[in-house]
Amino acid sequence: MRQSERSIRRNRVIEELCGRLCVSIKSGGTLVVGAGPTGLTVATELIRRERPVRIIDRGERPHPHSRAIVLWPRGLEALRRCGAAEEIVERALPLKAGNYYTGGRRVARLVFSGGLAGTRYQAPLSLPQRDTEEVLRRHFEQLGGKIEYGVSMRSLRQEAEKVHVGLGTTSGTADEEFSWVVGCDGAHSGTREQLGVEFEGQAYQETFALSDGECETPLAHNEAHYFMSPHGVLVVVGLPGGLYRVFVSLRPGTDQSDLNGLVQEAAQQRCPVPLRLVGEQQSGSFQVNRRVAKRFHEGRVMLAGDAAHVHSPAGGQGMNTGIEDAQSLGWRLASADPGTAGVAGVRAWAAERRHVAQQVVADTDRQTQMWMLKGWRRRARDGALGIAARTGLLNRVLPPRLAQLALAYPSSGTGVGMLKPGVRLPDEKLGDKWLHDMLNGNALVLGFAVDRRETGNLPVVRAAADALAQQWAAQLGSEADVAIVHSGAPDMPGDLLDETGQVHRRFGITGPALVVVRPDAIVAHAERLTDDIGR
Ligand SMILES: Cc1cc2nc3c(=O)[nH]c(=O)nc-3n(C[C@H](O)[C@H](O)[C@H](O)COP(=O)(O)OP(=O)(O)OC[C@H]3O[C@@H](n4cnc5c(N)ncnc54)[C@H](O)[C@@H]3O)c2cc1C
Repeated sequence: MRQSERSIRRNRVIEELCGRLCVSIKSGGTLVVGAGPTGLTVATELIRRERPVRIIDRGERPHPHSRAIVLWPRGLEALRRCGAAEEIVERALPLKAGNYYTGGRRVARLVFSGGLAGTRYQAPLSLPQRDTEEVLRRHFEQLGGKIEYGVSMRSLRQEAEKVHVGLGTTSGTADEEFSWVVGCDGAHSGTREQLGVEFEGQAYQETFALSDGECETPLAHNEAHYFMSPHGVLVVVGLPGGLYRVFVSLRPGTDQSDLNGLVQEAAQQRCPVPLRLVGEQQSGSFQVNRRVAKRFHEGRVMLAGDAAHVHSPAGGQGMNTGIEDAQSLGWRLASADPGTAGVAGVRAWAAERRHVAQQVVADTDRQTQMWMLKGWRRRARDGALGIAARTGLLNRVLPPRLAQLALAYPSSGTGVGMLKPGVRLPDEKLGDKWLHDMLNGNALVLGFAVDRRETGNLPVVRAAADALAQQWAAQLGSEADVAIVHSGAPDMPGDLLDETGQVHRRFGITGPALVVVRPDAIVAHAERLTDDIGR
C-alpha cells in the first residue's frame, strides 16, 4: 500500500473512532478498556466529574449473558455513590437468608436481612449482571457518555506523561494518546498482557455449569440454598421475576453437550427436595480460577475488576469487588495531576485494592474448598457449621464478611474510636439523613460535637473542621465538604442530628473530634479536639 493510501485509510479510521467519542478527546483524558460493570463504573465516576473519558468495548453490543447475580452492601454503596443504586434496588430481589445443606439436611442458616450493622442495605440483592450493566450504561449515557462498541485495544506504549494506544475496528487501526488507561477488559485482559504483568494463581479442577430460568421447587425463592454432597455442590438462588439460578459443579472431563440435562441430573442427585427446570433456560459452563495480578498498575496504566483478580463465584464477590475497584479509582483519576505527580495517587490505589483482592480471593477459595470436602473432613465441616450456627457465631461473622463491610486498607496513623485511617465509614442514620448521603463526590470532614455539654463548642469544632477541609482538599486533590454531627438543633445545612448520642457511642467517640473521609467513604484521618478547645 502506498504511503498516501495508508494515511487516507488511517485518517478514515480516526474519523470513525472520533465520530463515536463520548467526550471529544484527541489526546489526554482517560481511556477505559472494556464496558463490563468495572469499566462502566470507572467511566461514570469520571464523566460525572466532567473529566474527559472514552470507553471502548471490543464486542459489537452489550453481552446478553449474565454471570454475576449477587450484589452485596459494599458494592451497592459504591454504586450509590456513582448514582446508579436506586434503580438496581428497585429491580432486584432482596435475599433474606442463605441455607447450607449436607447429606440431605440443613446444617446451618445464615440470616442476612436485618443483621448488618452500619449500612442502609440490609440484604444482598439478586439481579442478573446484564440488568446491572444496563442500569450502569443508561446512567452513563444520561450523563452524556457514549460507549464505543466494536473498538478494541490492540497495543499500548507508555511515555512519562502519556500512553499511546493502538485502537482497532473492523476497518483498521489508529494510534491515539491518553493520559491514563484503565484495563477493565476481563479475566483474559489484553491490557494486562501488554503490560507483561503476571496473573498469579491457579485454576480449579472442577468446571461449573449454570441454568437461569423457571423451576418447580418448594425452595424459598428469596433465599440462597447451598447443597454440599459427595457428588459436588449445587447452589440455588432466586432471581427477580420468579426465576431461579441453579449452579452446579461438574467433575473434570464431563461431556457438556447437554448443560440443562447435566444441571437437572445434578439437582436430582444433590437436592433433597424436588427441583425441576421448566421451559427455556439460559445455560453456560465456566472454568473457575483464583488469580491476582502481580501489579495493579504500571505507570499510567491500571488494571481493575477481573483484569486484576478472578475468584471462584462462591459468595458472589467478583463483580462487587470490581465495582469497588472502579469507584475508588474514579475519584483519584479525576483529581490526579495529569503530569508525573499523579502517578503517586494511582500507586496508593493499586496497593489498597491489591490488598483487598488478596483477601477476597482467599475467602472465596476457603468457601470453594469447603464445598468440595470429602470423608472425615466433610463430617468435621458439617459439625463445625452446625455448632457455629447454633451459637450464633456464623450469623455474627459471615454476613458482614460476605458484604465486605469489615474489609479495611492497610494504613498507618491512629484513629478516634473505631474510625481509623483505612476503614470504611459506617453508614448510620442521623435524623432523616444517612451519613453517606453527605458524600457527594467530594471528600468530607465530619466534626463530632455530640455530647450536650459540647454544643457550646460547636463554633470551635466548625471552625476547626473548615480549616481541616481546606488542608485535606489540597492533599486529596478533591473538594472537601463539612458536616457537623451534634445533639443540638441543626443550625447549618450540613448539620447532622445525633440526639441521643447513639452514633458517637457506636463509633466510640467520647469527645469532640474531626474525621476526614475520602470520596470513596474511607477514613483518611481522625483526630481528637480536646486540646484545641481546652477541655
Ligand atoms: C458463574 C459465575 C457467577 C458469578 N456470580 C457473581 C456474583 O454473584 N456476584 C459477583 O460479584 N460476581 C460474580 N461473578 C464474577 C463477575 O461476573 C465478574 O467479576 C465480572 O463480570 C467482572 O466484570 P469486569 O467488568 O471486570 O469484566 P467483564 O465483565 O469480563 O468485562 C470485560 C469487558 O472487556 C471487553 N474487552 C475485552 N478485551 C477487550 C479489548 N482488547 N478491547 C476492548 N474491550 C475489551 C469485553 O468485551 C467485556 O465486555 C460470577 C462469575 C461467574 C463465572
